[in-house]
Amino acid sequence: MVRPIMIDGSQGEGGGQILRSSLALSIVTGEPLTIENIRAGRKKPGLLRQHLTAVKAAARISNAHVEGDAISSMELSFHPQAVQSGTYHFAVGTAGSAILVLQTILPALMLADGPSELTLEGGTHNPWAPPFEFLTRAFAPTIERMGPRLHLELVKPGFYPAGGGRFTVRIEPVAELKGLTLLTRGQETRRSAEALLAHLPEKIGERELDVLKRRLSLPADAATCRVLSNSVGPGNALVLTLEFERAVEVVSTIGRKGVSAEKVASETADVAEAFLASEAPVGVHLADQLLLPMAIAGGGAFRTLALSEHARTNIDVIKRFLDRPIRVQEEGATVVLRFD
Ligand code: AMP
Repeated sequence: MVRPIMIDGSQGEGGGQILRSSLALSIVTGEPLTIENIRAGRKKPGLLRQHLTAVKAAARISNAHVEGDAISSMELSFHPQAVQSGTYHFAVGTAGSAILVLQTILPALMLADGPSELTLEGGTHNPWAPPFEFLTRAFAPTIERMGPRLHLELVKPGFYPAGGGRFTVRIEPVAELKGLTLLTRGQETRRSAEALLAHLPEKIGERELDVLKRRLSLPADAATCRVLSNSVGPGNALVLTLEFERAVEVVSTIGRKGVSAEKVASETADVAEAFLASEAPVGVHLADQLLLPMAIAGGGAFRTLALSEHARTNIDVIKRFLDRPIRVQEEGATVVLRFD
């Protein structure tokens, strides 16, 4: 039997991402995987509902033999077979991010033998995860420049703690991903903000947008409140979209109980100002999410801000599965990652 690739889940960032990236690479390469110490340093260690759904989704599309796929499990053994495109439905069952479940299986389905239709249920606007608007405006268009087509539709938003969100994705795959060169962003073409509100007073959104208008010189017609009446539970997300000739960045903050609207907006403005002050086309979050597809493509380069712990951990995991160099070069206040 082929010896599995052994991953220590507590290394580097040590959270859910090392698990998702390892699973994603295992199903893309067909290499079996054993991962130990899953989320060992976290308050609730081991597999939470969202992680377990990602394991089950990866197993389902690759018909994998799995051991350790249970809530709180800290060790997983995963033996994938060939990836099957098709129609799939995955539900987290809590408000855990359904978008992070997609992150796990997308690389394999973008390279599968035919198109796939996915329905994903759970959270769509979670703290510490990409919100749906980041997926459609920043992530998907960048991935489409590598060849595949992604058609995303939000059926219902899902916020913590009620969850109940749902979105669909149609994936049109390619035989090989094209490497992308994204070193410059060009001129800024548009700046706009939306305060998303589900079962909460519009005043909250107006206060958030007032801060962004002031701090980022947003014109009044580029700042709107959007009421999401079909959400199961209450929730708020502030979404700022920065469009450039050759790049789009989406900066977002999810409103939390006990945190003022002004604080939510000033966190968003701080991140946006740092991005605007740099010359990077790729923001901190998009950078860690582009690492896998770019490494699989084995070509191209992108420029980002300083590397996050998530990005560093992803690079280490990628090196365990793919025999391809990733060169990291600091250039002034930015970092360039090269994949050829
Ligand atoms: P983890 O913390 O290991 O569960 O991984 C979280 C993932 O969500 C990483 O890929 C982050 O880049 C991504 N992420 C977290 N916050 C945001 C955000 N505001 N916008 C986009 N992506 C995010």
